[in-house]
This record gives sequence, C-alpha cells and structure tokens, in this order.
Amino acid sequence: MTRDPRYDVLFEPVQIGPVTAKNRFYQVPHCNGGGYRDPSAAAEMRRIKSEGGWGVIFTEQTEMHHSSEITPFIELRLWDDQDIPMLAKMSDKMHTHDALAGIQLAYSGINGPNLYTREVPLGPTALPILTFTSDPVQARAMTRRDIQDLRRWYRNAARRAKRAGFDLICLYGAHGFGVIQHFLSRATNQRSDEYGGSLENRSRLMRELIEEVKDEVGDSCGVTVRLSLDELSGEHGFSNTELRDVIEMNAEVPDLWDLAHGSWENCSGASRFKPEAAQENLVRGIKSLTSKPVVGVGRFTSPDTMVRQINSGVLDFIGAARPSIADPFIPNKIDEGRVEDIRECIGCNICISGDMTMSISRCTQNPTFMEEWRKGWHPEKIQAKGDSESVLVVGAGPAGLEAATALGARGYTVALAEAGTELGGRVAKECQLPGLAAWGRVRDYREFQIQKMPNVDVYFDSFLSAGDVMEFGFQNIAIATGATWRKDGVARYHLHPITVEQSMPVFTPDDIMAGNCPKGKVVIYDDDHYYMGGVIAELMVSNGCTVSLVTPSAYVSDWTHNTLEQAFIQKKLIELGVDILVTRAVTRVGCDHVEIECTYSGQNQQISADAVVLITSRVGNDSLWRDMLACESEWHGAGIKSVKVIGDAQAPAPIAWATYAGHRFARELDEPDIGDDLPFRREVSALASD
Ligand code: ADP
Ligand code: SF4
Repeated sequence: MTRDPRYDVLFEPVQIGPVTAKNRFYQVPHCNGGGYRDPSAAAEMRRIKSEGGWGVIFTEQTEMHHSSEITPFIELRLWDDQDIPMLAKMSDKMHTHDALAGIQLAYSGINGPNLYTREVPLGPTALPILTFTSDPVQARAMTRRDIQDLRRWYRNAARRAKRAGFDLICLYGAHGFGVIQHFLSRATNQRSDEYGGSLENRSRLMRELIEEVKDEVGDSCGVTVRLSLDELSGEHGFSNTELRDVIEMNAEVPDLWDLAHGSWENCSGASRFKPEAAQENLVRGIKSLTSKPVVGVGRFTSPDTMVRQINSGVLDFIGAARPSIADPFIPNKIDEGRVEDIRECIGCNICISGDMTMSISRCTQNPTFMEEWRKGWHPEKIQAKGDSESVLVVGAGPAGLEAATALGARGYTVALAEAGTELGGRVAKECQLPGLAAWGRVRDYREFQIQKMPNVDVYFDSFLSAGDVMEFGFQNIAIATGATWRKDGVARYHLHPITVEQSMPVFTPDDIMAGNCPKGKVVIYDDDHYYMGGVIAELMVSNGCTVSLVTPSAYVSDWTHNTLEQAFIQKKLIELGVDILVTRAVTRVGCDHVEIECTYSGQNQQISADAVVLITSRVGNDSLWRDMLACESEWHGAGIKSVKVIGDAQAPAPIAWATYAGHRFARELDEPDIGDDLPFRREVSALASD
C-alpha cells in the first residue's frame, strides 16, 4: 500500500537551525517512569519510535544541574560527565532510523525540592517549592551571581548534551516545571532588578540562555524553547497574550518554538475532559509572529487533523507524546497507507501514572511500552507460533481481545468465545459512560486486526462451561472472563461485608451499565478511588437524580491524581451540584438511609436515600478456571496442554493491566519455562570500588 497524497505534507523535511528533521512528526519530551533508574529500557523505547518513523525524538525532562532536582520523580540527569554514557546510548538509539535526537534540559527552580541533593533550591523569588507533593521547603531568591552561575551551568550542560550526541537541545520553560517559566511569570517572578518587572526584563533570562546555548553548541545543534501557551494561574499568571508578546520580541532567537500548555494537567488532559487538538485556539496565529518552526501538541491521532494543523498554518510540526506511546509507528503507518492500523491513544493517562507513582510507565493501548528492552517486546512484531496449534480464548474483553490479536499474529488457530453479543467486555460498556467514548478504541483497534486474520474466529452467544471447554479439543485455553462489582461494601475501608437492608435498592456499576439505574436521592459510596465513582455521579445527575458521593478518602476519585484528572473531576462534580462527603465511610445501608462515619473520629451520621450505588471493589469471574482446575487429570485425555486465567478474572485491575495480561499470555505461550528466573531484564547500579 502507498501513502495517500493528502498526507504528503506531513512528510516534508523541516529545518531546525543547523539540522533538518526528515518529516513533521515530532515526539515531544515525555516521561516514562524509568528515567535514570532504567536507562536502557528508556533508550530502547525511544529506538522503537525511530524505527516507527518519527522525525524528531526527545528524551524526558533532564535535570541539568544537581542544584535543582525533583526527587522522588524519576527523570534523567545530566549533572556531570558520568551521565554522558547513559544519554549517549539514548541518542544513539534515537538515531537508528535517521530521527533527530533531542534532549530537554530542565532547571526546576521553585519546582525542585532537592530532597536528594540537599541543595537549597533557587528561584526568581523566595517562595515555597511548588510541587505535586507540597514539600515543606522554600526556594531562595537568586542573586545576580546566582543567575550568572545558572547561565554557566546551562552552557556546561549544553556542551555535555552535544558530547552525548544530541542534535536538538530544548530549554524547558513550560508546565510550571522550568525556571524559564518561573522568570517569565509575574506569579513567580516578583523581582525588581533587570530580570523582573517588564516582560522584556522577565524574558531576559530566557533570551540569554538561548543565545548562550546557541553560542556554545549552535553550530551543530538546534536550540529550542518549550513554553506554556497560558499558565492559567490567575491574574499574575503568564498569559497567552504575554506569550505572543514574548515570541514577537524574541521571534528569531530560538531555532524553534515548542508550545505546551498550562500545568501538566492542562497540557496532558485526559480525553474525558479534553478533545483532540484542544489547544488549537491558543496556538493559532503564533506562526505569523516568527519565521522559526512552531510545534504544538493536542493528542493527535488522526492524520486528517494533523494535515489540517499544517495546511491551515497553525503548526509546522505535529507534536505528540501520548499518541507516540500508544502507537510508536504512527508515521510509518500513515506513510504506508495503513491509517486504519493506527493504535489510537484513548487519553486515559495511565502512562502518566507510571511517572507519578515512580514505578515504570505502562500504556492501555500498547502493552509493549517500556517492555521493549526489559522483555524484548516489539509493538509491531511478534515471534512465530511455537509447538502447539490451537488456542481457545474465553471472554472478549481487553484481556481476551489482546490475547486473540497477538496469538493470531503469531499464527495460532484461535477461537475467541464470548458469552455476549459484542466484543470489548468492560470497555464496550464503559465507553458508553459520560466522557469515556474514546475508550472504545481499545476494542476498535483489536476488532479491526482480528477481522483481517483468517486464523482467528469469533463466537458470540457462547457462554462456556468447563464441560464445553473439555469437549472442544483446543490445546491451550486462556480464560479471560472478567470481573463483577461487589454488592457488599467490601473494598479498602471494610474488608468484610457491611449490613445492607434488603428493602434498599442497591446498585453497582454493572447494574447501571446494563441500563438498570437508580432514581431519586442516590448515595454513591466510592471506596474504589479511581474514575468510576466520579463518572457514575455524573451520569446519575444527568439522569435527574439528587446525588451524594461518600468516600473515605480526602478527595473524590483520589487515585486520579496519578492520571492528572482529579482536580477536573472534583470541579465537575461540584459544578453539577453533587453533595461531596469526603473522609466518610458507609457503615450500614438501612431501608431508607445510609449510616456513615467520619474516618478519623468515628462520629456517626445518617443520610436519607432512595437508592445506594456501591462502587467498592470487584471479584474475578474465575469459576470456569476453578472448574477446569478441578478436572486437571482429564486435560491430557482431552488434548489440553495448558489452561491459564488472565486479566480481571485473575485479579481485577485497570484496563491497561488486562491488555498487558492478554499480551503476555500470547507472548509466553509455548515458550520455555523460565522457572524461578526473573521474567524481565533490569539494570543494577554499578558498585563503587571503595
Ligand atoms: P478483562 O478486562 O479481563 O478483559 P472483561 O470483563 O472486560 O475482562 O471481559 C470479560 C468478558 O468475558 C465479557 O465480555 C464476558 O461476557 C465474557 N465472559 C465471561 N464469562 C464467560 C464464559 N464463561 N464464556 C464466555 N465468555 C465469558
Ligand atoms: Fe494514551 Fe492511555 Fe496509552 Fe497514555 S496509557 S498513551 S493516555 S492510551
């Protein structure tokens, strides 16, 4: 297949200072939760993007001096020459398919608590450190001498970055994370010297840093700056108007303008709150202020939207972080006329949770993300099938669908048996809930792939028992039968069932997604803490119910802090008039009320209710697996080699865990048993000799 000529414009080369990108696909810096702890895993992840056709590939945030670091978050470091080999490995990998290798240099200023280095943080003004973790630390206001030091540190870092093989150096001043922004903004820059006051003064540091870095390495490296389109922090914040003025005043200073937005929460908005190309209005017109290329982001997954951004003169480069995670091969797929094969990002922000939890990032759509080096998983290639021929996958949710897709790609004869009449399991239902439509892409991508495979057959209306499975004669069985929400209050606060009066109508998300909804005054008890409680509250309000949401946490949908959604969810529920009762747990469901207690004092309270929705925890539907285990002695006679339970049926978790489980099952089928060995590679710090 060949490229649709409509998309030719995306493949034009674009010059960035002394270097030229081969096309307009620009992977903007993004975290991965691996950073300096897992450098080879991160490097291989970037190599895959090079193979996938990206013209520009960036590292994540790289701390450029030890006096500003963001422990506990795990990013990259360029503190001294010791860090160069690790970064050189990364740039080497980025170069494998002619991508430009970019490094983002960050001096975190009032965003860096320095918990590891114990240096006193420096910022334009003496203010508390502004981080996710509200560390009880303040920054000292920089003196002129400090600013001179900082300028020298940037030069040093740029020289090291060049030695590490990078073609592009991005100076970070966006998301509230970089010192350049702290100087630009009247919120954080309250100085009265030549670095404070007027916009010209506030942008002085930015200009000096860009010019000096260019002076240092600009003969061979493009020097870019990343700014927020609008800081969104009240009357003193750096606004879109000021940004345009800064760009006009410094139009030709950097080699490229890289435009992010607000805080990270604003820039990486979940699909629940931000559509594709959400920042277009804030970017439009900026290109006319400068002759330098402009890159912006917007969770771009549609080539038509990308082309529109270029042809309408909004952007020169299509910036992408999450879309490049969900599908590192977007450029090549567009180039090869395989647009339908794009594995579109669903905007769930599970990838971001890997960074926020300092674990390692995972992706709902792309289970191979950050497993490229650890497990040798490639997002587009998989090994040919092993000794056996056939696999029965029971259940067509994310786990079963991913297993069937990957097994089909390996060449097995696959039967996918589904009790219902549609593919997708939980995502088919959840994508009907308010704001979650994009989640249907988990099903859509896999459905399209399976439908192309002659060796994968789907059987609907097939609720299978162990007897059925024993009869069918498949050699390998994957049981992906999902999970069911509990109706007894058991979750984190209550580890044993609570009393529920029979006369009170009690619902779970399963009931509601099946169309069986409560009416009147509804009490939602959320001891799950992910998105479901907030989503169901929203739905109940739109159904005309009066809603109280009770949660033992101090926040609604507490875990969504990790997906950068929490503030948006709580704001939305407040605006919808939901009565929010935090640090409260339901202790008993009566016939016309619920009893709740304060999680600190134990003080009791009653709230009247016509119905209760329990969003607590789920139980795996593993009875088929248990029935199969009960007849293990008969497997051999029935021609069965293996039976495994995967996904929510094994242990309920977010959708990303299910696609991972399905993929892992497919990868490991017929592979040699590794016994007690570690199932992935890792890097261990080299011990010092003394
Ligand atoms: P996961 O997230 O682990 O993929 P889901 O709950 O999304 O789990 O999907 C499980 C799917 O399995 C559902 O579509 C359900 O209808 C199907 N299912 C459950 N039990 C059986 C069974 N015994 N036979 C066939 N399909 C089943
Ligand atoms: Fe997109 Fe979700 Fe994957 Fe992140 S985890 S890249 S938001 S699909």
